[in-house]
Amino acid sequence: MSRTRTARIIVTLLLGCAAVVLLVWAILPQRALVVSGLAPDPLTVRGSVHVHTLRSDGTGTVDDVAAAARRAGLQFVVLTDHGDGTRDPDPPAYRSGVLVIDAVEISTVGGHYVALGLARAPYRLAGEPRDVVEDVARLGGFGIVAHPDSPKVDLRWRDWTLPFDGIEWLNADSEWRNEGSLGVARALVTYWWRSPETVTAGFDRPDTPFAEWDTVSQYRRVIGLAGHDAHARIGPRGNWEPADRDLSVQLPGYEVAFRAFAVRVSLEAPLTGDAGRDAAALLASITAGHVYTAIDALASPASFSFRAHSGTRRASAGDDLPVADSAILEADVARVPGVSLVLRRNGRVVAASDSGRVRFEHAASRATAVYRVEAKLPGAPGTPPVPWIVGNPIFIGPSLPRLRPKPRVSPAVDAEVLCEGGDVARWRVERDAASSGRIAAQEAPWAMGHGEAVAFEYALRPGDRAGQYAALVTPVGQGGLSAWTRLSFKAAADAPMRVSVQVRNPRSGARWQRSVVIDPRPQDLLVTFADMAAVDEAPVPIPLGDIDSVLFVVDTTNTPTGRRGTLWIDDVRLERAAAP
Ligand SMILES: [Zn+2]
Ligand SMILES: [Zn+2]
Repeated sequence: MSRTRTARIIVTLLLGCAAVVLLVWAILPQRALVVSGLAPDPLTVRGSVHVHTLRSDGTGTVDDVAAAARRAGLQFVVLTDHGDGTRDPDPPAYRSGVLVIDAVEISTVGGHYVALGLARAPYRLAGEPRDVVEDVARLGGFGIVAHPDSPKVDLRWRDWTLPFDGIEWLNADSEWRNEGSLGVARALVTYWWRSPETVTAGFDRPDTPFAEWDTVSQYRRVIGLAGHDAHARIGPRGNWEPADRDLSVQLPGYEVAFRAFAVRVSLEAPLTGDAGRDAAALLASITAGHVYTAIDALASPASFSFRAHSGTRRASAGDDLPVADSAILEADVARVPGVSLVLRRNGRVVAASDSGRVRFEHAASRATAVYRVEAKLPGAPGTPPVPWIVGNPIFIGPSLPRLRPKPRVSPAVDAEVLCEGGDVARWRVERDAASSGRIAAQEAPWAMGHGEAVAFEYALRPGDRAGQYAALVTPVGQGGLSAWTRLSFKAAADAPMRVSVQVRNPRSGARWQRSVVIDPRPQDLLVTFADMAAVDEAPVPIPLGDIDSVLFVVDTTNTPTGRRGTLWIDDVRLERAAAP
């Protein structure tokens, strides 16, 4: 080979390398700003509230996650492996010096719900979102709507009228699922140089969760935070589906995800090292809204404060300031070049500032006002750009409704008795081939020796879930339900369970359902037909005139396979309610 030819090859190679370096340089995301001069605050701890491990579809063990959290400087992680709430949560523990709290992410048919502080559930938590939200609250948990605007329809939250406790205003997994192939290809290149910045390069300000949060906050308290939804993997299927273990790459790693952003929880007292006590304090602060999110890949460390006062009364982000008088609101963040603050009242911007500090006078008002703050930085990724810091609201007002009032139950103006006194002849059993059901007249748990009820002894076939069910079925006669608006009955069960009350059209087989909790304490229950939801693809509204039977169904949605038990039902009536 001649010397000139060798030289030409070397020059070409060098030029090629230079071109690659230039290209990478050109597409690198902006480097995170380093904020200096902030003293560490022992009352503010950094952590993550939505993480998957190998127990569900993550790629690391609990210890891997804790070690990654430690390397990223987090003090706590809340594990939220997919589940139905029936696994005993691990007790809180310090691993690698990081407080690890076990929680669960529950799949409903209308989105995913992260439940913190939930005791072991007595039956499977699943099915309709309204039932799961109700169950999590009843079992003492704090429920957060996960990835509410996921590009994947199955994962998106459907019902914003439900009394959920919190919302992920940002979910890192969702933010990447709507990214095009070009964005992902770019990330696969830049990840090796600026990993946390690359993780956030696909983020936007997700407007829908913010809008829903601001709307719902006007009638009750809802806490907002960002979820990592860290699985440490992406896959090549649609929406970068992370579910296929064989075909996925373990990116971004847990540590990088944790370095990209984290939530900050303000505590009343520093962590003690006693995991049980610290976990309780941490969860109490999160549920109180004493938590904000900062995107560290934009600038770090972050500091944020949002306060209000009126006379001698004071409040911080997450708190109520229950006054009808005027109040002063003040917020500030770490001074970073270009930082701007935006104060929103009931979702609308009422003040903004480029000084890292905002002050606003709230005029005396009888209406509730909900204020929250976002901090922005120039060059943040996304359209619209993802905020740097998002805090929780301060609620100012003389009376702060916290929950939607329960609708009043109208009295019945007419009724037809379907079953009373343990009339077993009315009922028959339907079941899958390997499950069982038996009907008997038994002393009613509520009758104190003065009457019988229909006892239904069921057993779902053990093994995998494969459509096992056992149902107590009664005909409703000619004309179906057209004259009636609801079903009322007395019920009890030997252990808490969810039973699906259904009506069926005999010609099409279509069914509609409303699930109710039946437990050892006897209860009078009501199921309104207009409240029933279609099973599978049944049409709505229900053709009440075509219905021929009412079913009480025990199935694998809420009942574990292999479970056997007894439920008692009686005083079953069709009713017509007075117009509300
Ligand atoms: Zn999820
Ligand atoms: Zn998740």
